[in-house]
Amino acid sequence: MNYQKEAILDRARGALVATAVADALGAGYEFQAPLPDSEPVVFKAKLFDLGEYTDDTAMMVAIARAAKRGNLITELDLVAEEFFEWFKSSPKDIGIQTRKVLKNAKGKTAADLTESATEYLDSHERAAGNGSLMRTAAVALPFLSNPESVGIAADQISSLTHMDLDCREACVIWSKAIRHAILFENFDGIQLAINELPAFRQNYWNEIFDQAESASSPTEFANNGWVIHAIQAAYSAIRLNQTEDPSHLVAGIEAAVRVGNDTDTVAAIAGGLLGARWGYSAIPAKWLKPIHGWPGLKTKDLVNLADEITEPIWL
Ligand SMILES: [Mg+2]
Repeated sequence: MNYQKEAILDRARGALVATAVADALGAGYEFQAPLPDSEPVVFKAKLFDLGEYTDDTAMMVAIARAAKRGNLITELDLVAEEFFEWFKSSPKDIGIQTRKVLKNAKGKTAADLTESATEYLDSHERAAGNGSLMRTAAVALPFLSNPESVGIAADQISSLTHMDLDCREACVIWSKAIRHAILFENFDGIQLAINELPAFRQNYWNEIFDQAESASSPTEFANNGWVIHAIQAAYSAIRLNQTEDPSHLVAGIEAAVRVGNDTDTVAAIAGGLLGARWGYSAIPAKWLKPIHGWPGLKTKDLVNLADEITEPIWL
């Protein structure tokens, strides 16, 4: 294993940039039937321009910008500010739940958002959308030395819009898995994160990942706007295409894009963990070139952002 500075930074960059790449690829196939293997996965202009990333990455960028300005745990207001800054830009696309929570917040602080998110949870039967899981890739980077902090930050940031326990724990599991992949180059962080949940929740999540593990296609989790099917579809795309070389990143992202329905989000979720495992260097150049999105960032800017917020622990 390589614990050198450059290798860890490559994987931290990979978490952010592969999220953006997968999101932008998936955006061309959103709300369609699954894409058959016979058709290639390519960038397509639809609601978004060619290579433009969507709300998933934009909100991840908002979190990264907050991490650049301060501490994601003790200065959660910075994340709220960045979310509102993005919201002000009149995004082309925004999740129903996120829009309502931001719109109905009484003020611009983290407390205002969590209050609004709690009201949403209390008044909607279906409040467990995938909209907080999609933006988690940046959360681990400032806390590489401390999985507990990753969990706390992931939980708090989900709660700004998605208060449901399933959403919060999905963010905790995925963010810890991303941290683990950046440091140790494997996917064991998922199980380790589940083992750290309260005992009564461990069976619940083990069953969810067992189902994903035994699926023969990520398309089995068709209701992927729901956080549970989104995490199962993303994990299934990763597992079914797992190899011991960086081509896994490409195959996993393509499988996630092929899933149908909320393709950009399932792909963004899968992309974050695949990028954390295989690194920026595993992403094909043809995928890097057209990437752009809010607030006027390109691939090199996402790389810089990753470098700026990654905690410097060179083991
Ligand atoms: Mg999107």
